[in-house]
Amino acid sequence: MSPSDKVQSIFDLGIIWDAHSGFMPDPAADLRNLQIWRDANINYLSIDVGFDLLPWQQTVRTLAHFRHWILAHPSDYALVSSADEILAAKASDKLAVTFDIEGMNALDGRIEMVEFYHRLGVRQMLFAYNRNNLTGGGCHDDDLGLTSFGRQVIDEMNRLGMFVDVSHTGARTSMEVMEYSDRPVIFSHSNPKALCGHGRNITDDQIRACARTGGVIGIVGLNRFLGDGRTDSERLADHIEYLVDLAGPRHVGIGLDYAFPVDMGGLDTLFADNRQFWPQSEYPDGATTYYEPSQMRELVEVLLHRGHSDRIVRDVMGGNFMRLAREIWKQPSTPAY
Ligand SMILES: [Zn+2]
Repeated sequence: MSPSDKVQSIFDLGIIWDAHSGFMPDPAADLRNLQIWRDANINYLSIDVGFDLLPWQQTVRTLAHFRHWILAHPSDYALVSSADEILAAKASDKLAVTFDIEGMNALDGRIEMVEFYHRLGVRQMLFAYNRNNLTGGGCHDDDLGLTSFGRQVIDEMNRLGMFVDVSHTGARTSMEVMEYSDRPVIFSHSNPKALCGHGRNITDDQIRACARTGGVIGIVGLNRFLGDGRTDSERLADHIEYLVDLAGPRHVGIGLDYAFPVDMGGLDTLFADNRQFWPQSEYPDGATTYYEPSQMRELVEVLLHRGHSDRIVRDVMGGNFMRLAREIWKQPSTPAY
């Protein structure tokens, strides 16, 4: 088989999975840009609909709009709730979509909100977004650990069948979540600190603990977290190889965090007043650059060229997250959508 045939077979036979990307969570986002993932032959995308800085009402507003738009474009997109529905979407050339929320402030302190979001298509929730909240600590805060409300949230997420996600979460809280959860825990978009010493990246202990739960770590494509200002496929492959060696090839995936800015109107002041979410020491001035979904084909080429087996490359590009979806996501007892 020629090298290009081999690359094509990874795309044909596997599921290409982006565990976290999308838009600034706002109804002003132009969702026609989802075509970028379709053009890149990506099969599944988790779209961010909120993060802890924003009021919970903004998350609901965004979720309502994104759901409505996706359901209004059924020939190109499918709002899915199971691994089988992802396979069906691929077979009919649609991008499969679910949603994620970065941080538990979206719950407004109410446990029943977990099920509410689940019913609306959220399949992944992060414990924190950089700062502490009611459930635990953020990675850019004085992490006080998992709270009793946080433990209730894990119980509820395990009951419903959602990905418990500890990207952006403080190291101590993330370890306590991984210890407590009955089900595998993921880092949807976090890179190894050993290759880039940013406070958003994760230690070898966190990586090993995630693998012990049966979870998956998604490599994120921002220059700040990849190191050396790079966003090229060779650099992504370096991070992937580090995780494959440390955690094993069954525990590595991709969560690009490719994002489109939108005009946030009245929320601009909120951002300006809350710079502590992105401390200057960790986020010095300078442009954020992104690894683009269209580069995923080149990433497959690089991984194969470096001698990784077809099986390992398929697993990293999406097979591992697909396995978790099969294991963790449950069909709601009544139709969700
Ligand atoms: Zn993020």
